[in-house]
Amino acid sequence: MDNDSFDLVIVGGGLAGMVAGTRAAERGLRVAVLEKGTDQRYPCNSRWSGGIIHVASTDPKEPEAVLRAAIERNTRGFTDPALADVLVRDTTRVIDWLRAQGGRFIRAGVVAWQNWMMAPPRPLVAGLDWQGRGPDVMLRLLADRLRGFGGTLLLDTRGRGLIMDAGRCVGVEAEQSGVARRFAARSVVLADGGFQGNLAMLHQHIMPVPEQVKQRGAATGAGDGLRMAREAGAATTALDCFYGHVLCRDAMVNDRLWPYPELDAIASAGIVVNDAGARIVDEGMGGIHIANMIARSAAPLTATVVFDTQIWEGPGRSHRIPANPELVRAGATIHRAETLAGLARIAGIDANGLTRTVAAYNAACASGGLGSLAPPRSSDRFQPMPITTAPFVAIAACAGITNTMGGIRIDGDARVLREDGSAIPGLYAAGATTGGIEGGPFIGYVGGLSKAAVFGFRAAEHAAVTIRGMAQ
Ligand SMILES: Cc1cc2nc3c(=O)[nH]c(=O)nc-3n(C[C@H](O)[C@H](O)[C@H](O)COP(=O)(O)OP(=O)(O)OC[C@H]3O[C@@H](n4cnc5c(N)ncnc54)[C@H](O)[C@@H]3O)c2cc1C
Repeated sequence: MDNDSFDLVIVGGGLAGMVAGTRAAERGLRVAVLEKGTDQRYPCNSRWSGGIIHVASTDPKEPEAVLRAAIERNTRGFTDPALADVLVRDTTRVIDWLRAQGGRFIRAGVVAWQNWMMAPPRPLVAGLDWQGRGPDVMLRLLADRLRGFGGTLLLDTRGRGLIMDAGRCVGVEAEQSGVARRFAARSVVLADGGFQGNLAMLHQHIMPVPEQVKQRGAATGAGDGLRMAREAGAATTALDCFYGHVLCRDAMVNDRLWPYPELDAIASAGIVVNDAGARIVDEGMGGIHIANMIARSAAPLTATVVFDTQIWEGPGRSHRIPANPELVRAGATIHRAETLAGLARIAGIDANGLTRTVAAYNAACASGGLGSLAPPRSSDRFQPMPITTAPFVAIAACAGITNTMGGIRIDGDARVLREDGSAIPGLYAAGATTGGIEGGPFIGYVGGLSKAAVFGFRAAEHAAVTIRGMAQ
C-alpha cells in the first residue's frame, strides 16, 4: 500500500472541493483533492449546473440584512443562524476571490438574483449542455490554479473511509484505480456532493420509490462522505429534503427534457393532480417543494400538471429556459383539449374527479377561499391562476432530484460537529454533503453553489490557520 502525506486532503472535486483545495494551496498548505471521476472533465453537479451564484434567489452583493431576510423567507426560519450568517457575509467575498483567480461572470438577464452567472452561459434551450460553459470553465480554471499553487488533483480516486487517531481525523483511506491507498493528512475536507445518487439512502431518508424519481444531475453523490463522517462520530441534520424541480415525465426516457425545461412555473400557477383528478400538493409553495412532495408520494409517476392557455402563455414563458416553447421543441407529450372532461380522458385522469377539482379550485381563486381547499393552496409566493381558458392542457410530471439538502452537521468554519456540538478535530465538510442551512418543514432552498463555494473556502481558511498559523 502506498503512503502519501498532505496537510489537507479533500474528498470530492466539485466546486466545494476545488475552492477548498485551491484556497488552501494558495495559503501554502500541501493539498490533495481526491476525485472519483476518471476524466479530466469528470461529471459533477457543479460542472453541470446553471452556474448562477445566488443567496436564496437574491443577488449576493445585496446588503447582508437583505440576504439574511431572503434566507429567512425561503426557509421560513428553519435555518442554522450561524451558517446563514456566514453565507450572507462570505458569498460576495468568495465571488471576488473566484474573480481574482481568473473566474468570469456575467449577468444572466434582467432578474437580479441572476447577476452572478459563471461565463460563458449555457444556451437557453432544453436538455443538458455543459461542455465549455461557465461552470466547466470555472472548475478547470480552479484545477489549473490548484496545480499552480503546488496542489494535486487525483482522478479515479475514491475516498472510502477516514483514518482516525484518538478522535482526530488524520487521513483518508481511498481506492485509486482499483488499488487501496492511504493518504495521511493533518486535516480532511469531505466535499462529495450529497447522497442523491444512492437509491438505498434516498429510500431510507426521503422517498419510497427512488427509481421513479429522475436524477436531474450528475448523480455522483453516493453518500460516501455522510457515511464516513457518521463513522467518525459526526452528527447529521434532517436528511428528508432535496433540491430539485418538477420535470415532464417524458424526461424519464427522453434526455432532451432534463435538466431543463422545468415545469415549476406552470405547476405553481395551475394545479398538480393524481390519476383520480385530486390535487396532491400546495402548488403555491413552488417547484422545489412540489418536486419533494411528488417524490415522497407512494406513486411518484402519477402526478399531472393541469393548467390552461393563459398559464401556458404567461408563466409558461417566464423561466429563462421556458416550458413554452422548449417542451414542444424537445418532443414532450402535451395533452390539449377544449373541455376538461376531454382533457382528462386523453391524459388518463378520472374525468369527474378532475372536473370537480378544477371547479372547486376556480371558485376558491375567485372567492379567496384557497385556504379551505384540500390540500390548502397558499398564494403569498406564487399566485394561483384560474383554469378557465381553453384549450386546457395537461402534462404528465415527475420529480427531478438534483442534490440532497440535509447532511453532515458543520459549524460556520465548516468543522464537522458531533451530537454534543463539539468539533471533530481535523475534519471539515462543505457543499451538498452538509446540512443545516436549508431544508426544514417548508423545504427552503438557499443555493447550492454559494453553499459549496463559501463553506469550501471557510474550511480552507480554518485549516490554514490551524495548520500553519497563517491568520491574516
Ligand atoms: C442542472 C443543474 C443546475 C444547477 N444550477 C444551479 C445554479 O444555477 N445555482 C446554484 O446555486 N446551484 C445550482 N445547481 C446545484 C449545484 O450545482 C450543487 O448544489 C453544487 O454544485 C454542489 O457542489 P458540491 O461541490 O458540493 O458537489 P458536486 O459538484 O456534486 O461535487 C462532488 C464531487 O465529489 C465526487 N465524489 C463523490 N464521492 C466521492 C468519493 N467517495 N471520493 C472522491 N470523490 C467523490 C463527485 O464525483 C463529484 O465530482 C445545479 C445543479 C444542476 C445539476
